[in-house]
Amino acid sequence: MTEKRGRNRGKGGMVGRAIVSDVAGTTRDRRETIGNLAGVQFKIFDTAGVDDDVMGSSFTGRGKYRGAKRRGVPKNPTAVPDIREDIVLKGMAEQTLAAIDLADVILFLFDGRSLIKGGSPNDVVEMARWLRRHRAPGASSQVVLCANKLEGDAWSQMGGGDDILNEMGRLGFGEPLLISSEHGDGMADVAGVLVEAERRKKEELGITDVEGEDPYSWAASTSSLEPITMAILGRQNVGKSTLLNALVSENRVITGSVPGLTRDSIAVDFTYGPSRPSGPRSFSIVDTAGIRRASRRSSSFDSIEDDSVLDALRSMKLAHVCVLVLEAEALHLTKQELTIADGVIREGRALVVVANKSDTMEGTPDEYAMGVKDQVDRFLPHVGDVIVIATSSLYGSNISHVLPVVEGVFESWNRRVTTGELNKWFRDVVASNPPRMARGRVTKLKYIVQAKARPPTFRIFGNVDEKDLGEAYVRFVRNQMRADFGMEGMAIRIGVTNTN
Ligand code: GDP
Repeated sequence: MTEKRGRNRGKGGMVGRAIVSDVAGTTRDRRETIGNLAGVQFKIFDTAGVDDDVMGSSFTGRGKYRGAKRRGVPKNPTAVPDIREDIVLKGMAEQTLAAIDLADVILFLFDGRSLIKGGSPNDVVEMARWLRRHRAPGASSQVVLCANKLEGDAWSQMGGGDDILNEMGRLGFGEPLLISSEHGDGMADVAGVLVEAERRKKEELGITDVEGEDPYSWAASTSSLEPITMAILGRQNVGKSTLLNALVSENRVITGSVPGLTRDSIAVDFTYGPSRPSGPRSFSIVDTAGIRRASRRSSSFDSIEDDSVLDALRSMKLAHVCVLVLEAEALHLTKQELTIADGVIREGRALVVVANKSDTMEGTPDEYAMGVKDQVDRFLPHVGDVIVIATSSLYGSNISHVLPVVEGVFESWNRRVTTGELNKWFRDVVASNPPRMARGRVTKLKYIVQAKARPPTFRIFGNVDEKDLGEAYVRFVRNQMRADFGMEGMAIRIGVTNTN
């Protein structure tokens, strides 16, 4: 069971049923519905939300005064609060608390745009405190902070950084997920939380998956590996459907076409390599093709007219790894393809390129792959050494390479390098090419930490600001990292903190 909370922060947009409105207080009572994300079914409570009034009215006694102040009532301790309003507020708080007690996962939504003022927003700090105080003692529910309304690359455009996220993590509920419930961004991350919660719940209740029609379902359920969500992107007629069929029929273990991560998408779930030594792996291929009107709403991509690009950008947001399919003539990449590849990297997803229809090429598949790779490297250097596989989906050649490559890229994208290993590596890299002096002082880079994965994100600490260290030096560190840790086809984000 999942519960979503927060005041007018876009909770309604995450489920089809709730009324969505910009007016605070639209969702007055607790609403229940059944949701489905990444194949996990759950009961969802959409609560009234909690603001100062609710927090205060029934439990702390402070709310009447605060609410009164906000409503313009004079600061007069003898002022009589509106009793009816108080009863409504008390009811809302009780409903919300009842939902909290029932939930396994509490999605704690807040307006992510408020983070940019620096530090944890006051209302979120208050809410976190309230939640800690009122959650039943010993409650095992997981609270997940969700910074909402961060569609497209709003976060980077606002200048958002990992330090703000780290700081929020100190509230005791981990770093927030960056999401946009209206646009569907970040739903793959929310799905990850739910998949994990379902696993925990089953373990707690001693449930093992029932063996059904799928002969490999036992294998899928015993796999502790996170399912990989991938999207197949590209222009019309390059062979996306043919590739999907080839991938799926080769594995022949489809667990069914299920409603996808949003009500606008479908996902094909299947298990790959049930008998291989490293164990089986679940994949979910999301497909949002044909949802063009919805895509157009995406404000960050408003200027894009091309439907295949809009479909791609929408699917990409639901995926961990994106496979961009091109065809032979794409030895000259089109503008659409460059836009898609660029979007994938900017969204922080991982990218693999499939150069399809190799059967129509004169040269060898290797020459074809190298030709495409040169194009991507030249036009999109920040895509970062992407892996290109030359395939013929029609004749099945090289199809067997696709999922292992996607899996490898997914692992790198998820990878957390230990601080010890990272710093040993960092000392060697800095010694091999020391940074130049900044402001008349010798630059000392003291250490590096990995702030997060998905995509790999690092922070260097030293006696310089990012600007003084210079973009070229950060690029040098990034390239070394990519070469040494194999993080191909994804952004590697690196920030610098001056500790002086
Ligand atoms: P989509 O629009 O990207 O999904 O493309 P489709 O999968 O529908 O394929 C478009 C056309 O290209 C179909 O006629 C396919 O048979 C053909 N096609 C797909 N893959 C290949 C391939 O590897 N080689 C050749 N020669 N044709 C292919």
